Amino acid sequence: MQQAAYTKIESGDPPFRFRFVRNARARRYILRVVPGGIARVTIPRGGTLDQAQQFLQRNREWLLKQLAKATDSWTHGSRILIRGNPVVLVVDGDFVTAGEWRIPLGGRSVRSTVESHLYALAAPELTKKTYEFAEQFGLAVRQVSVRNQRTRWGSCSSRGRISLNWRLMQTPEFVSDYIIVHELMHLREMNHSPRFWREVASAYPAYREAERWLRRHAGLLR
Ligand SMILES: [Zn+2]
Repeated sequence: MQQAAYTKIESGDPPFRFRFVRNARARRYILRVVPGGIARVTIPRGGTLDQAQQFLQRNREWLLKQLAKATDSWTHGSRILIRGNPVVLVVDGDFVTAGEWRIPLGGRSVRSTVESHLYALAAPELTKKTYEFAEQFGLAVRQVSVRNQRTRWGSCSSRGRISLNWRLMQTPEFVSDYIIVHELMHLREMNHSPRFWREVASAYPAYREAERWLRRHAGLLR
């Protein structure tokens, strides 16, 4: 027999909903993402809410990745990140509203509509920023391209070509700035040696915080 303990909105970053369920037949704690993007923790016979919460914390990273996958289909009510802020998508008729934007769907899916909008903004914005930072650090950039990269946020070639992921439009500005500076520092050091990280640390002191944010939101890349 299953019995819901309670549902709660956690004010984490990003926030997510979870529900504790007691199941006398369960032999261990089980964590699962159920439809609606809710994390369900099953508490076995003899288990406690305290232990369930600890279990949830231990598996937080995994859970955030699963939740990101579960919310793959952006729809009315989906919560997405724009510039690091959670924004709830509102669909009405042939429009989707995402924060300050009201974008016509024109037969496309909600996800591809919002993503194309972000993509279109990303190219000029990230390119401009890159040249500004390059000038600030006295570095010569040959070319900047903004692309859809599945596995990385940016890259830099030895010939001075920098590629940036358009999804940086979903990260806070201090994170996208960090990625730009990180790639620029590769023009000084084409590797991830201690020397490279010293360059990054002096050019962008908040880099550790930015790296932490990216690890916590690894589910954004897809
Ligand atoms: Zn790098």
